[in-house]
Amino acid sequence: MKTETTQGPLGLTDLNNFAAATRMVKAFGVTAEQAASAFAAASTIATMRVACILEQANHEPGDQAPEGYLAWHEWADTQHKAGLRQKECGRCSKWKYPQELSATIDECVMQSRKGPVTLMTPVCHKCAANNAST
Ligand SMILES: [Zn+2]
Repeated sequence: MKTETTQGPLGLTDLNNFAAATRMVKAFGVTAEQAASAFAAASTIATMRVACILEQANHEPGDQAPEGYLAWHEWADTQHKAGLRQKECGRCSKWKYPQELSATIDECVMQSRKGPVTLMTPVCHKCAANNAST
């Protein structure tokens, strides 16, 4: 998780606002700048207490990947904790979780010193769809 630090000495309210801003970034997928400006505005009213009830989208193991950088990382955490592991797509070389891989498997016979060896690589949905349309 990438965090950004603010310049100057940090007070307690700054730290509270920073923590809240970080949660806001995680929950809503807003940019760090948007969250920072929202909480900078709130912190100018020194006595104001801001309560945020934030709900995070729940990802289940086997779900397809969500849009957005932070959401993707939350989702990937869930997949990894469920024991799912990524495999490299043989066409785009990107690493994908099993639910992102199509039923297509590329086969290629190569020669080793001990004779022919069949190389089998999984193909992701995106590459399989690209190949079908062309
Ligand atoms: Zn691919």
